[in-house]
Amino acid sequence: MGIKTPITIAYGDGIGPEIMRATLHILDAAQAPIDPQLIEVGEKVYLQGNTSGIPHAAWELLKRTKVLLKGPITTPQGGGYKSLNVTLRKTLSLFANVRPCVSYAPYIATNYPSVDLVIIRENEEDTYAGIEHRQTEEVYQCLKLITKPGCEQIIQYAFEYAQKFNRKKVTCFTKDNIMKMTDGLFHQIFNEIAAEYKTIENEHLIVDIGTALLASHPERFDIIVTLNLYGDIISDVAAQVVGSVGLAGSANIGTQMAMFEAIHGSAPDIAGKNIANPSGLLNAAIQMLIHINQPETASLIENAWLKTLEDGMHTADIYSHTHSKQKVGTQEFAHAVIERLGQQPSHFKPVHYKTGAYTKIECYGGRPHVCNEKKLVGVDIFIDNPNDRPAHELAAKLSTLNGPLQLIVITSRGLKIWPHSTIDAPYLRHCCCRFQSSSDLNNLQLITHQTIIDLLAQCHTLLLDVIKTENLYTFDGKLGFTLAQGQ
Ligand code: NAD
Repeated sequence: MGIKTPITIAYGDGIGPEIMRATLHILDAAQAPIDPQLIEVGEKVYLQGNTSGIPHAAWELLKRTKVLLKGPITTPQGGGYKSLNVTLRKTLSLFANVRPCVSYAPYIATNYPSVDLVIIRENEEDTYAGIEHRQTEEVYQCLKLITKPGCEQIIQYAFEYAQKFNRKKVTCFTKDNIMKMTDGLFHQIFNEIAAEYKTIENEHLIVDIGTALLASHPERFDIIVTLNLYGDIISDVAAQVVGSVGLAGSANIGTQMAMFEAIHGSAPDIAGKNIANPSGLLNAAIQMLIHINQPETASLIENAWLKTLEDGMHTADIYSHTHSKQKVGTQEFAHAVIERLGQQPSHFKPVHYKTGAYTKIECYGGRPHVCNEKKLVGVDIFIDNPNDRPAHELAAKLSTLNGPLQLIVITSRGLKIWPHSTIDAPYLRHCCCRFQSSSDLNNLQLITHQTIIDLLAQCHTLLLDVIKTENLYTFDGKLGFTLAQGQ
């Protein structure tokens, strides 16, 4: 046996320890040439008072091994500590989340027997950054940040992946009919990059109909590339459509590091009962073996796993009277896989991964950086308006402010409430007052930051509660902001 590759292991929370035990048991029985090194992360670490959920020493180990196999981690809903999963993905720059989704009919019940798709999800940006603020008594905000390099990197990765693995089509999901700037950027860069890959078909779908089609006609998809939040949602949809969220594994790929995990969470409802399906984590471990260039062991384990499915040895989540022979627990399922190491599936095509088969795809952005002329032309001033002061009164007050900026429009939750509002009962407690250097959008003049500071000082004198400002820019004359709804 040659040198063993060191890998970092984190058991995680909930069902994490039991599915990780099952997975490591299989890796061990398959004599995978790996040297697992354990770190403690997640709930236990949080409860010890470390709010990051990961001890300092664990980062050191991760940087040394560069590969992490991780069980799911519990993240409290609605409050409490931040998601360690997101921290890991962002800190380690794991920009691509690769989630294959395959049906295993006729052995696992599904209405869609021939699904074989890969979801490639942007992994570092979007509302997932969790930048949230409470602005007034009643209003909360979550920032959606999308960057050009982030879009370029993930979209280029998707096309390179398609090319490397002989995939035919890449579909992009966005909601750019509504989020014209953020999702619009993703779509625009998709179009630009797609044009460079002439042999690969491309299409764009709005995420709502895209998700509906994924649920009703999943076979029509090959590779889907999308933003972080949509990617998260649609991968559970896709996994469930082919049988269970318990089946799918994922690879989180960066330029230096990689992390492998199941797509599902810590399933606290079934934790400690030995009924969880370890297949999602096992499939992630198979992706890991290919990544560290151990294709033979990956093939050995995947073939044994396929044979186990064919033999009808199924955990509760995929068990059915018509398709299964025996309902087994987590550890029994692992034993069944181990017993079949060396066997080939007879219905499914046996896999034979080749050396260097994997996703070390050299495409990490690096597209030419275009420098636009950025011009400051106005400001949106957000005001907490707690006494429901009518918009026309607020406008009258703001019109008394001195300086080169004109009040153009007042909006609430994106909808115009002044001037000429047609709504009867507008929401008035959170107002965005837009000041521009000209009312003519084609003739906006350059202003200085001092102009905005002077305006804010006058707002302060008028006892207006300014909660936030957003500068308005043009880039090479093109507006860097959207118009208000109804403007
Ligand atoms: P979940 O994926 O944990 O569970 C959803 C449903 O699927 C549950 O009914 C569960 O029993 C079932 N399920 C999940 N995995 C299964 C498996 N391997 N075998 C059989 N059934 C399985 O989603 P949730 O309940 O929304 O989240 C629970 C916790 O997990 C939350 O704290 C959430 O933040 C966290 N989470 C973590 C990750 C991660 O670590 N990457 C991902 C998603 C959710």
